[in-house]
Amino acid sequence: MGSAKTMQAAVIEGAQTIRLQEWKTPSISEGEALIRVKYCGICGSDIHVLHGKHPTATFPVVPGHEFVGELLDFKGTSSLERGNLVAAQPVFSCGNCEPCAKGQDNVCQSLKVLGCHTDGGFAEYVKVPLRKVYALPDDIDLELAALIEPLAVAVHDVRRSGLKVGNSALIIGGGPIGLLIAIVARHAGADNVIISEISPYRSQAAEEMGFAAINPQAENFNEELMQKTEGKGFDVAFEVSGSKPGITAAIDYAKITGTVMVVGMTSEPYPVNLSKIFQKELTLQGVRVHSQINYIGAIDLLKSGVLDKQLRKLVSAVYPLKDVEKAFTFAQSGGDFFKILVSMED
Ligand SMILES: [Zn+2]
Ligand SMILES: [Zn+2]
Repeated sequence: MGSAKTMQAAVIEGAQTIRLQEWKTPSISEGEALIRVKYCGICGSDIHVLHGKHPTATFPVVPGHEFVGELLDFKGTSSLERGNLVAAQPVFSCGNCEPCAKGQDNVCQSLKVLGCHTDGGFAEYVKVPLRKVYALPDDIDLELAALIEPLAVAVHDVRRSGLKVGNSALIIGGGPIGLLIAIVARHAGADNVIISEISPYRSQAAEEMGFAAINPQAENFNEELMQKTEGKGFDVAFEVSGSKPGITAAIDYAKITGTVMVVGMTSEPYPVNLSKIFQKELTLQGVRVHSQINYIGAIDLLKSGVLDKQLRKLVSAVYPLKDVEKAFTFAQSGGDFFKILVSMED
């Protein structure tokens, strides 16, 4: 373990290189908090940064934005107490630009995401804005609490979709975010939630959670989807795969006056069939990270415990910080797993 001035941190030094090393412990200024990290989850976007494919990431950087920990210190006024278990929305937003003024801090004009533009949570300590920090109950399950950030993505996406009780939802891509969207959509009242997924492992997990999973490469994909909505298509289609066939299917299978949610990130432009958007009067809605109010929604949802059983299925492996490089190797293996967590406890 590092001294007070330095700490152990996993650092991405440049594309393809991540190494556990001594790193400067962050020092906090007014309005900032220092968190002793307990768990941090590996996200697809951490892998993007590692591969040098993230369009705006800067090196060197400590990755990780899905962390939970203990509040060690802060400067400023707060009802929080040192020693509280905390979660923190992992973004720096300016608070003054037009989107921030509208509560849409997730699209702040000078948004900085931890683990991408500034050091994140694969370290003993992480610095965050004090106003983004929230206390958790002392008896919270910290492995599940490490899912608050991706859960917040799902809460944001479902709320932004305008999904209503009794609606149907198609989720294209059954990875962690796709399944979290499915879980939240059902909790929000969707009664017909279908997941389009190629991997048998992920499809089986989706079915164990009570969702129908259909392989988009299967011959009868179209018939099955249509039969499940009586030929109408879906009220909301969430495109989570970031693939060209994914966005094409989302537009094809959204019902008349339905909504297509663009969740998956793509680095290249894809052609889409505008005439279908026109003919069916579809709404096409992009979604980025999560607004602070929706992050709070995810904390409340986690604290309620109603989703615990399903969330637990998403925690596939936990590595100690000393094995963080192995954890990243596993996360890039394309194997059968959902979330990989790194624990700073031992
Ligand atoms: Zn993430
Ligand atoms: Zn702003």
